[in-house]
Amino acid sequence: MRPTFSTETRFASLREMEAHGVDLLVIGGGITGAGIAWDAALRGLRVGLVEQHDWAYGTSSRSTKLIHGGLRYLAQGEIALVREIGRERTIVHNLAPHLVHPMKLLLPIYKRGPYGKWSTSLGLWLYDRLAGVKRTERRRMLSRKSTLRREPGLRLDGLLGSGLYVEYRTDDSRLTLEVLKSAHLAGAYLAHYAQVTDLLYDDHGQVCGARALDRLSGREHRLRAQVVINATGPWVDTVRRKDGDLRGKRLHVTKGVHLTVSRDRLPIEHALYLGAEDGRMIFLIPREAVTYIGTTDTDYEGDLQKPLCTATDTAYLLRAVNRQFPGAHLTPDDVQSAWAGVRPLVHEPGKGPSELSRKEEIMRSRSGLYSIAGGKLTGFRKMAEKIVNLAVADLQARTPSGTTSAVGRSRPRACATAYTPLSGGDVGGLGFEPFQHSMMRTGYEQYGLGHEVLHRLLRLYGSNIRTIFAYLNRDPSLNKRIAGPLPILLAEVRYAVEQEMTVSLADYLIRRTGDGLFARKEAEQTAPALLEAFADMLGWEERERAKQWQGWQDALREYNPYDT
Ligand code: FAD
Repeated sequence: MRPTFSTETRFASLREMEAHGVDLLVIGGGITGAGIAWDAALRGLRVGLVEQHDWAYGTSSRSTKLIHGGLRYLAQGEIALVREIGRERTIVHNLAPHLVHPMKLLLPIYKRGPYGKWSTSLGLWLYDRLAGVKRTERRRMLSRKSTLRREPGLRLDGLLGSGLYVEYRTDDSRLTLEVLKSAHLAGAYLAHYAQVTDLLYDDHGQVCGARALDRLSGREHRLRAQVVINATGPWVDTVRRKDGDLRGKRLHVTKGVHLTVSRDRLPIEHALYLGAEDGRMIFLIPREAVTYIGTTDTDYEGDLQKPLCTATDTAYLLRAVNRQFPGAHLTPDDVQSAWAGVRPLVHEPGKGPSELSRKEEIMRSRSGLYSIAGGKLTGFRKMAEKIVNLAVADLQARTPSGTTSAVGRSRPRACATAYTPLSGGDVGGLGFEPFQHSMMRTGYEQYGLGHEVLHRLLRLYGSNIRTIFAYLNRDPSLNKRIAGPLPILLAEVRYAVEQEMTVSLADYLIRRTGDGLFARKEAEQTAPALLEAFADMLGWEERERAKQWQGWQDALREYNPYDT
C-alpha cells in the first residue's frame, strides 16, 4: 500500500504551502480546525492547516468523549443550542458509525436531588423532540425497583427512580484524526508539529499568512494565505494577541478532569449521569475494561500545554462516586489513569465555570483574522460550515476574477459535510453491524486473525480495516502480533506510520489508540516491543529510541493524577 498520510505528506504539504500559498490557512489541529479544513477542501478551496503538536493534542483528546445533545443546556434554557447539537449528533453518527456508538445512559432521581421526577421526565421528553431522536431511542422513565435491578450498587436512600435515555460515545482524538484524514483526501495540505510563531501582513495591515516553525526539521516556513482562521481552542487569545486585536469577547478557560478505574472496582452496566454533592452532574462511562469518571469544571490559569489532574480533582470525583455507590469505597489507589482538558469558553461577566454558554463565537479582527472559540466536539461540523461560509464570502469579495485562487477560478461548491462519510465510516450503506460481521469473517477466514485483533482493528479503524488487509496481502510478514498483552499486529504499526502520520510512541499509545488511558497496564507491558517495531519502521537509532522512551515515560506521568 502506498503511504498516503505519513511524515512525507507533512513535509510535502509544508513545501507546497510555502511555494504556492493557499486560499485558507487554518491554525490548530483539534476538532474545530479539522472540521474547517475538511469542509473547505470539499468545497474546492486550497486549504492548509498547521498544528503545533500532535493531532488533537489539545482539548480534542481530553473531553468526556460524548457526542451528545447536552441535556444540561436544556436546564440552562439554551433551547436552540440543544436543537442544533442534537441534530448534529445524528449526522455525526451517520458519518462515522465506527466511532460514534449509541449508549444507554441512566439518570437516577433522588429526593432533594438536582433533578425531580416530573421535571426529568418532561426534560427528557423535550430533549428527544428537540434533538429529533428516533422512536427506538426515546427516553423511558423507570421505577425505583427497576432502577435498582439495573444498577444494584446505587445509593438506596432517597432514590425515586430514574430516566433512561440514549447518548453517543465516541473517541475524540480518533474522530479528529478521521476528519483530518478526510480533509487530506479532499486535497487539504496538513502538517502537525508545525507551530505558528507569527502572522504575516500585507501593506494594508491585512493578515496574509503565517510563519510556521517545523518542529521536526527546525525549518521555518512562510505560508501565504488569503484568509487565516485561528482555531486554536484554549490558545485563541494567544494568537489574537499576536494579531494585536483583542477587542470584543475574550476566552474564559476552565479545566475538566477525568479518571479511570477498573470495571471490577466499579462494575456498572450502563453509563450514568449523577449528581455530585455540590449539585453538579458527572458522568460514569464504561469503556472496555475500565469505567471513566468525569468531569470537574474549575477556573484555570495554569499551563495550557499540560493541564494536570490534581489530588483535589481526584478527591472531588471519587467522593461523588462513593456517595452514589456506597459499597464502592474507591480510593486514589484505584485510579489507573487520568486526563485533564481545558475548555475554550467565551467569557460572560458574572458567570461561573459551569454557567458559561458552550455556544461557539466567531470573531473577526481589524486585520481580517478570523477566530473561533467555544462550541463542542459534537457541533464541529456545523461550526465549520458557519465559518467557512464567512471565509468564502471574504474570498469572493477579495479575489478579482482571473487570479490563481480556487475562488477566482470557479465558484466554491456548497457545504457537503452533512452527507460525505468520514474516513473509516464508509461501510457501504450496510450499517456498521453487518459490515463488522463481514469483515470479521474475512479476517478470520483469509488471514487467520483472532477475535481480539479483529475487534481492535474494527473499533479503531472502521472501514479502513480494508487497508490493513491490503498490507497483509502484500506482505504476509506483517501478520504477526507484537509481544505483549495488547493485540497489536505489525501491520497496524505500519498503518499508523503510513496512513496516520504517527511519529512517536506516546502519540500512538495516547491519541491514535487510547491504550495509554484505557488499558494502561497492558500498554506499559507492550511498550518495549512496540518501540522496537516503530524503530524498525522509522529507522530510529539509539538516541532517537531513548528520546522516544522518555517521551512515553513523560506521557505516563502526565496522564496520571498528581498529588499536589
Ligand atoms: P483544541 O482541541 O484545543 O485544538 C486547538 C489546537 O490548536 C491544539 O491542538 C493546539 O496544539 C493548537 N495550537 C495552539 N496554538 C498553536 C499555534 N501557535 N500553532 C499551531 N497550532 C496551535 N464536547 C463534546 O461535544 N462532548 C463532550 O463530551 C465534551 N466533553 C468535554 C470535557 C472536557 C473536560 C472538556 C475540557 C471539553 C469537553 N468538550 C466536549 C468540549 C470539546 O472537547 C471542545 O469544545 C473541543 O475539543 C475544542 O476543540 P478545538 O479544536 O477548538 O480546540
